[in-house]
Amino acid sequence: MRTAPCVNCQQETLIDAPGTWRSIEGWEQVRRQGGTNAVKHRRLTGSVCCASCMTLRTKQIHQDQGDLFGS
Ligand SMILES: [Zn+2]
Repeated sequence: MRTAPCVNCQQETLIDAPGTWRSIEGWEQVRRQGGTNAVKHRRLTGSVCCASCMTLRTKQIHQDQGDLFGS
């Protein structure tokens, strides 16, 4: 099984496991009303974030890692 270190906690994370967040890169088209229609030519960047770190990130309770995700 493929693993990569979580970008936040560095814990080896299963890349293909349910719940793992994988960073992607792609192209999105701007809609007339704002937002985007879809992402095309999506590709994985190779960076992963474990589910628990993403949950913490979503709850905005990272005290000292705020810049890690661009916030
Ligand atoms: Zn993590």
